Amino acid sequence: MKNPFESGKIRVTSVYGKRGDAFHKGMDLVGVSSLRVVAVEDATVGVSTIITDHGNRTWEWGNYVRLDLDDGRRLYHCHLANRLVKTGERVRKGQVLGIAGETGNATGVHLHWELRPAGYSTESLNISEWSGIPNKIGTYDPSPTESAPETPSPAPGKESFYVGETVKIKQGAVYTNGVKVPKKYLGVPYTVEEVKPGRVLIAELYSWVADEYLEKAAGSSGADAVIRVGDRVKIVSGAKYTNGVKVPVRYLGVPMTVAQVREGRVLISELNSWVPRQYVEKI
Ligand SMILES: [Zn+2]
Repeated sequence: MKNPFESGKIRVTSVYGKRGDAFHKGMDLVGVSSLRVVAVEDATVGVSTIITDHGNRTWEWGNYVRLDLDDGRRLYHCHLANRLVKTGERVRKGQVLGIAGETGNATGVHLHWELRPAGYSTESLNISEWSGIPNKIGTYDPSPTESAPETPSPAPGKESFYVGETVKIKQGAVYTNGVKVPKKYLGVPYTVEEVKPGRVLIAELYSWVADEYLEKAAGSSGADAVIRVGDRVKIVSGAKYTNGVKVPVRYLGVPMTVAQVREGRVLISELNSWVPRQYVEKI
């Protein structure tokens, strides 16, 4: 599988092909652990530019880099926050072309990656087939053997805990070292300091307790509420995406929909972006 990001997993947020009445000529991708967009082959930079004239539809691509591959096909990298290569330059496989962004007509930081045949055609090729990235919304690991073991995602219906959340310890609880949790600590609100698969570090007790002995001490709305897929939420001011990029002010306080929930983060449907749980409030 080709990875247009410097390292780590790739999240497909929009597939190649029919999208409503339109045809999406590329794939929309988010680098889960890197924003650095790289050349997947040795190539020549055919174009590195931004078009700001809205009379020209190419403005929608924002900052973009077109690589002319050695077989003549053309590979487009769009919506970049910036460009680190110049038109005419020769680039090597793995060289950074720019940083993923949301310039042009984009909602949320992502890379629009599009492959076109040799020559000046506006036709697109199936970039999923070419790259090996599945044409299906999801997260993929291009190098599973090199990456660290993944934290198992919680079983469906089972909630995970997140740092900063308020929890209570249930009756009969034991610490992970097997010692019984004293009665006086049961049912009292505590703060989650760290989360590991299957266990949580309780800040006030400085002790690890298994998930099964914990319950959320949460309200039905606001910052502490349990967030589930489909919930309406808003993003609070000062928020950053999980990749560290600031969430633009225009998205703050606006009702949005939860597409996915993972340990400590929430995928916002309208933005196609992950936001840390602490910046999301249920409305
Ligand atoms: Zn796209």
